[in-house]
Amino acid sequence: MNLRNDLWIWKKGKVAEHLEKRLKAKKHEVWIARSGEEALEILEEILPEDSVVAVGGSLTLADTGALDLLKSGRYNFIDRYSARTAEEQEELQRKAFWADYFLTSANAITEDGKLVFLDGNGNRVAAVVYGPKYVIVIVSVNKVVRDVQEARERLRYISPMNSKRLNLSTPCVETGFCADCSSPQRICDYFMVVESGARHPGRFKIILTLEDFGL
Ligand code: SF4
Repeated sequence: MNLRNDLWIWKKGKVAEHLEKRLKAKKHEVWIARSGEEALEILEEILPEDSVVAVGGSLTLADTGALDLLKSGRYNFIDRYSARTAEEQEELQRKAFWADYFLTSANAITEDGKLVFLDGNGNRVAAVVYGPKYVIVIVSVNKVVRDVQEARERLRYISPMNSKRLNLSTPCVETGFCADCSSPQRICDYFMVVESGARHPGRFKIILTLEDFGL
């Protein structure tokens, strides 16, 4: 028995239970998954076969196996990763607005149930706000922060890792710290908060994972 692991599992379970209540009060649908495998099983239950599905760029979707599921042929997947040119990618990103389901992770989630996103291009936050009929968010409780201000601080701290992952030429890749840059490759132009889903109950379907995914 590893006491440290047990305590973290207990803590994450409590955080997830707390968030489930807050998110449901905001008219979102919520599931709790203990692992990536469970998250994938829930995703399969939510997603009707043959539905039109698009995604936003996300380590979580890759690491949970969600991307592989979408490529299985059971869905009409608008595969942004199949683009061979920037123009093709742009076209696929625009098509995503007509999807039945848009899958993404969030960059942070506040203790009172606000979903926080940070985007460079804007296509992901745009599709989260409007267009696709439903938005499925797979987000692990290691991304939970106290409030929106703490989300800003967290994202400022971790964004250099995303720049590094994407092999960009931004100042943060040199230093590991955000310089609030003016680089044309800046990945931090759009900071967006989903305060509530009250106007469209059930549009957001949120899978909280106790296993850590993403940054
Ligand atoms: S604002 Fe620029 S320097 Fe800061 S994390 Fe984003 S890309 Fe890096």
